[in-house]
Amino acid sequence: MSQVMIYPADYDHVRQAVDRAFEMFPLKITGKKILIKPNVLRASEAQEGIVTHPAVLRAVVDKVAEMSPASLVVGDNPGLFNYGDNEECFRKTGLMEAARGYYENIGNASEQRAFNPDFMPEVSVSSAVLNADILISLPKFKTHGLTVITGAVKNSYGILPGAQKARLHKAAGSPERFHEVIVEVFGLRAPDLFIMDAVVGMEGNGPASPDLRDIGLIMASDNGVALDAVMAGMMGLEPGRLRFLQKAREMGLGTYDLDQIRMEGEFRTLPDYKVPPLGGEAMLDNPAVQEMLASKTVLIPRVDPELCTGCGTCVEQCPAGALSLKDDLPRVDTGLCVTCFCCQEMCPEKAIALQ
Ligand code: SF4
Ligand code: SF4
Repeated sequence: MSQVMIYPADYDHVRQAVDRAFEMFPLKITGKKILIKPNVLRASEAQEGIVTHPAVLRAVVDKVAEMSPASLVVGDNPGLFNYGDNEECFRKTGLMEAARGYYENIGNASEQRAFNPDFMPEVSVSSAVLNADILISLPKFKTHGLTVITGAVKNSYGILPGAQKARLHKAAGSPERFHEVIVEVFGLRAPDLFIMDAVVGMEGNGPASPDLRDIGLIMASDNGVALDAVMAGMMGLEPGRLRFLQKAREMGLGTYDLDQIRMEGEFRTLPDYKVPPLGGEAMLDNPAVQEMLASKTVLIPRVDPELCTGCGTCVEQCPAGALSLKDDLPRVDTGLCVTCFCCQEMCPEKAIALQ
C-alpha cells in the first residue's frame, strides 16, 4: 500500500518534517550518488511561491549531507530555453544559497533516451538524473492551467534540459495529450523520494499565479502518483478525474485511489481551494464535456494590458511562434497557438491567462 506523510511545518521549522520523511521512507544513502531536484520554474523571488521554498531545500540538503553520500548534486532545468539562465534562476530564488555549494547546472550534459514516438522518438535527459543512484524530488503544492495540479509527477518535466520541453509542449498539441506527455517523462526515471513544499501553496491560474494559500504542511511519499492524488484531494478535486493520474495508473506507476493510500497525519480538504478556471472542469473524464470543449471552444492566451510591460519574454518563449508584439502588447495568432501555457508560465508579470 502506498504511504503519504502529512506533517505540520512552517519555513522556520522544516527539519522535523524532513527527518520524519526519511524515517518513513528510508533510503540507503551512504556512499551513493544523490541528486536533489527542487521545482525551479523560473527566476522569481522565493516569496512569490512559484518555486520550492529555499528553507525546504536547505533542510533536505543538510539531512542528506549528514548521511555521507558519495556525491550530492542539487539541480534542475528551469524554464523552456534554459541554457543561459540556470544559475540565475537558482540565485534569484535563494535556492543557490540553500544548495550549500552542491548546485550544478544539470542542463550542461545529457543523454538520449527512447520516448513515446507519438510525441517524439527520443528525448535527452540530464545525465545527472540518469547517473544518480537516488533521486529526491522536491515539488511544490500548486495548481496548473493545463494539468490542473502540478506536484510530484509534473516536477519531473524538469529532467529534460533546454528547448525540447517547449517542443514537447508543441508536439502534444492539446491539453489532454500534454497530460500524457508529463507521465511519459516521469516514467523515464521516477524519483525515489518526494518531499513536497505545502507550507505555502498556490491556487488559481498556476503554475505562476499570484494567489497563494497558507497550508502549513510538508508532505512526502516514495510514490509520486499517490502524493499527487492526496494533493488533488486536499484541493477538493477527485483524483481519478485527472487525466495524468489515470495515465500514470495505466502505466503501473502508482494509484490515485485514496482508499489505497495510507496517510500519516491529518488529511483535510482545503475549503474553496481555487483550481484553474478551465482546468478544473476542462480536464474531467466526461467524454461529452471533452467533445464539447474540443468542438465549441477555443482556448487562447489573454494579456492583461495593465500588467504587461511589453518585455517580449512570452514572444521569445512561444514554441509555436504564435505571439508577436504590436504596440508593445503581445498578440496571438490563434491559428498557430497550441495552448501550451508556456507564455503564461514564463511571464514575469503574471499578465497572461488562458481564456
Ligand atoms: S511576458 Fe508578460 S509582461 Fe512580457 S510581453 Fe509577454 S505578457 Fe507582457
Ligand atoms: S501563444 Fe502561449 S499558449 Fe499559445 S502556443 Fe504560444 S506560448 Fe503556447
